[in-house]
Amino acid sequence: LNAVYTALPTTIFEHMSGLARANEAINLGQGFPDGPPPPVLSAAVTRAMAERSQHYPPMAGVPELRDAVADFYGRQQGLALSREEVIVTSGATEAIAAAILAIASPGDEVLMFQPAYDAYAPLVRRVGAVPVFVPLQPPAWSYDAQTIRAAITPRTRAMIVNDPLNPTGKIMDAGERALLAELAVEHDLYAICDEVWETVRFDGGTHRSLLAEPGMAERTVKIGSAGKIFGATGWKVGWMIAAPAMAAVLAKAHQFLTFTTPPMLQWAVAEGLADDALVAGQVAGWAATRRILNEGLARNGLTVLPGEATWFTCIDLAASGIALGDREAAERLVREARVASIPLSALWEGDDAPQHILRLCHCKPEAMLNEALERIVGWQ
Ligand code: GLN
Repeated sequence: LNAVYTALPTTIFEHMSGLARANEAINLGQGFPDGPPPPVLSAAVTRAMAERSQHYPPMAGVPELRDAVADFYGRQQGLALSREEVIVTSGATEAIAAAILAIASPGDEVLMFQPAYDAYAPLVRRVGAVPVFVPLQPPAWSYDAQTIRAAITPRTRAMIVNDPLNPTGKIMDAGERALLAELAVEHDLYAICDEVWETVRFDGGTHRSLLAEPGMAERTVKIGSAGKIFGATGWKVGWMIAAPAMAAVLAKAHQFLTFTTPPMLQWAVAEGLADDALVAGQVAGWAATRRILNEGLARNGLTVLPGEATWFTCIDLAASGIALGDREAAERLVREARVASIPLSALWEGDDAPQHILRLCHCKPEAMLNEALERIVGWQ
């Protein structure tokens, strides 16, 4: 068996969800909304199942969805994309895998910024490449030019950039985007941009992709997710965006991973993406759940860290008077208070991981959040 996997722990998300089930806990660990996706999307799936083919759709995605994704980014982010630049995948996780398979070769180094989503490094290692971790600088989780430059070598092939950032909700500023683009161009690097949280932002701003920076169009894979846009995580509909020549190669990685993605889900997502009000409504709902959780935590003396995006709120354990490492806090919280969370250090390799931050998922009904708050406060 391959050593990358025999040595790998089960992902923290599955681990904490398992503990949540075993302890009948409120699951604020793994990120997913409590309710169903928007009813119009579910109705669109039902209609497609009754009326349209359920056999293999085209490998790169149904034309309706490829066009809808291109149009969506045109309206929302000012990108001028064509259908050829969109490859539909079975979730963003498949897109991340396909991009790494298509870009990295044995011996290459791939930069990633910590905290880092836990799927990146094992995939890089499995292709025989080497993950090189660059810490973001707290409290703002900023990208530091000197630190990044020091990590780049002649073997560096690519950087993986997650913006907005899971778990902290940090959004890159214009200077940081310009810095990463400048370094990518200067060192001839590909950028794998995991932008699945692009619509889930609460600062009133508009997402700007690294893809749009000067010199980046030919070297960037931009990854998106209908699961995040519509709160439909189990649907596993995602996509990769890249210039046509690169997209053609990415499609070859995708064709032997999953080949296709269920067509009825693709048609439904295409309908959803055409509806800007539906997308805005999703975000407005999550802005409300975020406020309920953040205000409740603050009211009860817990320190909420700044963050302007994602379904997550991070609390500073030390500043909140909880003298436990994040992993121990998460393990005890789920067993003793029956609230599941995610310790930030699970998304950080090496011994310089911050040990004092716990991630909580806020996209849940008010009553559930209030019950979780009561349990957390009672446990302290
Ligand atoms: N993206 C989800 C999260 O951060 C987890 C997805 C998964 O469990 N694979 O909670």
